[in-house]
Amino acid sequence: MKNIYGIKRTDLEEYFLNINEKKFKALQVFEWLYEKRVNNFDEMTNIKKELRDKLKEDFSNDWITIKRKQEDKLTKKYLFELHDNNYIETVLMEHDYGLSVCVSSEVGCNMGCAFCESGRLKKVRNLESYEMVEQILLIEKDISKRIGSVVIMGIGEPLDNYDNVMDFVKIINDAKGIAIGARHITISTCGLIPKIKKLSEEPLQVNLAISLHVPNNKVRNMLMPVNKVYSIEELIITIREYITRTNRRVTIEYVMLDSVNDSLDNANELADLLHGLNVYVNLIPYNETNHLEFKKSSKETIRQFYDTLKKRKINVTIRKEFGSKIDAACGQLRSKEV
Ligand code: SAH
Repeated sequence: MKNIYGIKRTDLEEYFLNINEKKFKALQVFEWLYEKRVNNFDEMTNIKKELRDKLKEDFSNDWITIKRKQEDKLTKKYLFELHDNNYIETVLMEHDYGLSVCVSSEVGCNMGCAFCESGRLKKVRNLESYEMVEQILLIEKDISKRIGSVVIMGIGEPLDNYDNVMDFVKIINDAKGIAIGARHITISTCGLIPKIKKLSEEPLQVNLAISLHVPNNKVRNMLMPVNKVYSIEELIITIREYITRTNRRVTIEYVMLDSVNDSLDNANELADLLHGLNVYVNLIPYNETNHLEFKKSSKETIRQFYDTLKKRKINVTIRKEFGSKIDAACGQLRSKEV
């Protein structure tokens, strides 16, 4: 049985038409679910009893559960238990411009990036779209506030779970759903080229972030196995096409790993690669973990790398660090309880 929180409004309209009901019933259900935040079909009083019973037969409405919550000043990390007893983590961040949530898209991850904690557990399965929607609904319920932006940068490779992630995006973006503007939604990928192409054809103004991290194939092959399938050259061509097609600026993520990718030569290599592209680089101070041997670059090194890119006229920012005390920072999320 499908969970109602994973159904797009257009699909719900089709469902109603198929059972000879008016399609505006879908709008009414959406208003209950997302405006009034009522999750019990029996309370949907403008829908007749018979139809409510039918909805109960055809859709489940149960929640994933918050198993644990850890808090730091500007960050909360939620451990969710799914119905099949798998676990995922989700992070809430308080920025000066509002609240954002970092959503997981898979249980585990198969991309195998050497520096990332999330991939130590191989992918168990895709998350269903309702499991992504509920991460947001449950956090909003927990804090009694609305979230302004969503980044799909938690556990998993979102473009490796393309269809469910797109349904999720459409539900949260729907003005009658959670109503988060597309420009406030970011999908991050390690570079699955065919899916980036597919994304460029979607009529959605979402942001795309690319986890590039290394500006040459030799080292990128070692740290990010995906590079052996989709090389940097092909990735850059794809990004160029994406920008031309969508007219949107792309974010390049670059995690700063001590003595691995943080030399000034690397900065120049990166500037050569990105020359003339409408992108901006987000330098990410590496978050160390107990299990992996990588170290973070020093503040000084990050600053020099930043200055070099600036001099080369590349747009660049340094990512603000969130939640490392509670292991809630980039690359520290896990699909297990301990
Ligand atoms: N699979 C997607 C989504 C994960 S996003 C992707 O690769 O983009 C998580 C981001 O954090 C990625 O850019 C990832 O490379 C980065 N990251 C992984 N481990 C990290 C760590 N320990 N410190 C900082 N960033 C890390």
